[in-house]
Amino acid sequence: MKKQILGAMCAIILLLAVILSSCSATQPQSASFPSMDTLMTVKVYGGDNDLCDRLQKRIEALDATLDATDENSDIYQLNQNGTVDVSGDTADILARSLQLSKALDHSFDITVYPAVKAWGFPSGDYRVPDDAELKKLAEKIDDTAVTSDNNTYTLPRDVMIDLGAVAKGYAADQCDTILKEGHAAAAVLNLGGTVKLYGKKPDGKRFSVGVADPDNPAGYFGYLSCEDGVVATSGGYERYFERDGKRYIHILDPTTAKPVKNGILSVTILCNDGTAADALSTALFVMGLDKATEYYRAHRDFDFIILTDTHDLYITEGIADDFTLSKGYDYKIQSVEIATAPTSVSEASQ
Ligand code: AMP
Ligand code: MG
Repeated sequence: MKKQILGAMCAIILLLAVILSSCSATQPQSASFPSMDTLMTVKVYGGDNDLCDRLQKRIEALDATLDATDENSDIYQLNQNGTVDVSGDTADILARSLQLSKALDHSFDITVYPAVKAWGFPSGDYRVPDDAELKKLAEKIDDTAVTSDNNTYTLPRDVMIDLGAVAKGYAADQCDTILKEGHAAAAVLNLGGTVKLYGKKPDGKRFSVGVADPDNPAGYFGYLSCEDGVVATSGGYERYFERDGKRYIHILDPTTAKPVKNGILSVTILCNDGTAADALSTALFVMGLDKATEYYRAHRDFDFIILTDTHDLYITEGIADDFTLSKGYDYKIQSVEIATAPTSVSEASQ
């Protein structure tokens, strides 16, 4: 009998330990920390109780190996020495970036770094390079010149790499693995302009992600309701400087090495693949509205919200019903359809 009571007590203690070691599915665990040049906030429902800690450590490790300004990072070594042996994350993200660049017709190109530096974005010592310097810089932006042999990456002279346009999206994908392994029920990770959503909220409702108002980045011009996926936004408002009344933003056109100026204020992408979402937000910003729409119609594996400086909002049909404008905003919303209606019967039957 004594043995039975002891056995029952052990079982209860074990059960309690299991309950206590996994987090409540209604009360989230959360953490905020600076990384990748921004403030990040992670919030996790359910799963192992050290999940926030594991997410933070994973993101910090990625930052340490991918940050072009950190002397100990793989990317700094590659940029300084022109060659580096890489493995793991660095090998993965470099290979993915080169593939994405090709698919995006090089409007996203990781070899923009010398131009990004020349404008002073990493250091904050802003300057406006003259036309001759810009011409030289633009000639060197070409990621097809990056070579790899068994994970030894080599750069031609004067070529340097910047993963700033994909690192947060790649981090979001790595966090997905940690959330799965740690049995999380749901999570929302705000990685500074890139938001990773995992599952549904404990009340069964979808997450609502605010889209920053470029005219007042502390506010949101609207909300996108969604579950599972990554919402990545690129906008000039995130980093820019002004000289002689002109604004110069941190997103550069690889063909000219100049800050993009095409009437777009922000591009928000929703995509299951975080690395692709991040590359797409930068690339579609560079492409401009018409080319971005064309690209969407040819691929369809993502959705976008594009805000122009005339305060027109272009939203792809996959998420048009999931977007709500904030109170006080009278932006004109235009739905971007996958296919334009055929204009004649002969066209329709072709
Ligand atoms: P994002 O905020 O994701 O659009 O990334 C912008 C950052 O990526 C900039 O701060 C630059 O470091 C870098 N960048 C700027 N223009 C490009 C481009 N056309 N392709 C790839 N990276 C870029
Ligand atoms: Mg990006």
